[in-house]
Amino acid sequence: MNVQSNISATQSAPAEQRLVSETARSLKLQGLNKHYGPFHAVKDLSLEIEPGEFLVLLGPSGCGKSTALRMIAGLEDITSGAMVIGDNDVTHVLPKYRDIAMVFQSYALYPHKTVAENIGFPLKVAGASPAERDAAVKDAASQVQMEDYLHRYPKELSGGQRQRVALARAIVRRPAIFLMDEPLSNLDAKLRSFMRAELKHMQQTLGVTTVYVTHDQIEAMTLAHRVAIMRDGVLQQLGTPTEVYDNPANKFVAGFMGSPPMNFIKGSLSGGTFTSAYGQVSLAGYADHDNVSVGFRAEETSIAGPDKGHFSGIVFSCEMTGHETIVTCEMDDGHAIVRAAKDYSIPMGAEIHLTVDPARVCVFDESSGVRIRPETA
Ligand code: ATP
Repeated sequence: MNVQSNISATQSAPAEQRLVSETARSLKLQGLNKHYGPFHAVKDLSLEIEPGEFLVLLGPSGCGKSTALRMIAGLEDITSGAMVIGDNDVTHVLPKYRDIAMVFQSYALYPHKTVAENIGFPLKVAGASPAERDAAVKDAASQVQMEDYLHRYPKELSGGQRQRVALARAIVRRPAIFLMDEPLSNLDAKLRSFMRAELKHMQQTLGVTTVYVTHDQIEAMTLAHRVAIMRDGVLQQLGTPTEVYDNPANKFVAGFMGSPPMNFIKGSLSGGTFTSAYGQVSLAGYADHDNVSVGFRAEETSIAGPDKGHFSGIVFSCEMTGHETIVTCEMDDGHAIVRAAKDYSIPMGAEIHLTVDPARVCVFDESSGVRIRPETA
């Protein structure tokens, strides 16, 4: 079984050019709802995922992302709404007939089976011949660089290697869709970033439609063609990582995406000027509003000289990370974080002045969190 030969190029990628496997299918979620008794866990979720696309469902703990994934897998009943894979309505179809392979945070390997037996198990269940199975296992194992470990048992592998076996077991089935629920979260930070790159490479090589659940926005930014950000069961925004980072639809998305997250200062808008207890900035084109937050990113903020800049605060900490210095300032009811050159230094407690880019700041209605746009461009 040659995976590479089963792949064709596509021009229809939403974010970047990508490969699409012949077995990859589109996935449509149409107004999905999930109720647990009186609790409404997923609310009217609609998404269209293209063949070969890598879509990340992102959000804080409890936002409903795993429930949404489990509904796609068929492991959770859909209270209302519909789900379509390719041209088939699978809303009420049993999991085993959905042509989906799922990879969990816990690798769920069989401890008394070797790596080869673990990887080949889905094919054994499907009735493939030993020769077919052997070839497919070797092919899938080579996709995750585990071909030299086929005779080992799970307990003889590192966490990263176990995760790769779990991935190979999903690959070997050649599914229409991969579902992954926080598959990297058991790994230490170094292995996680290594596996992230491997996973991205593998998904782009195999071209299988993938839905990936995480609460880690770095994983979402680095892996996804598009990110769907959820909060309290509700889809907040769907877009490419760049779109949601640069153009957040609301304050929640702005504060969730990015490391460090966007900085916010509360104040009011009047006559094209934003005024707060920490300073002001001219924001032409915005209507008057007495309760807004202005958001600005660390990398779009610079440190100004004494009595210059738009805002001022008190230095809370100054941390040299190696290639840059992160300065945290006390401002508003939180902290504002700015990036400075690695040789920059300022004592704790000193006053610091910041210059923002008026063309790049985001304005939010403070009570609803909704983004406010200028009335004139
Ligand atoms: P996490 O990252 O912590 O796994 P999540 O975003 O994946 O969070 P879900 O597991 O989808 O969240 O859960 C969404 C909400 O539904 C949570 O408030 C959870 O307590 C609730 N929930 C999940 N399963 C059940 C269940 N079987 N019965 C009742 N409530 C449930």
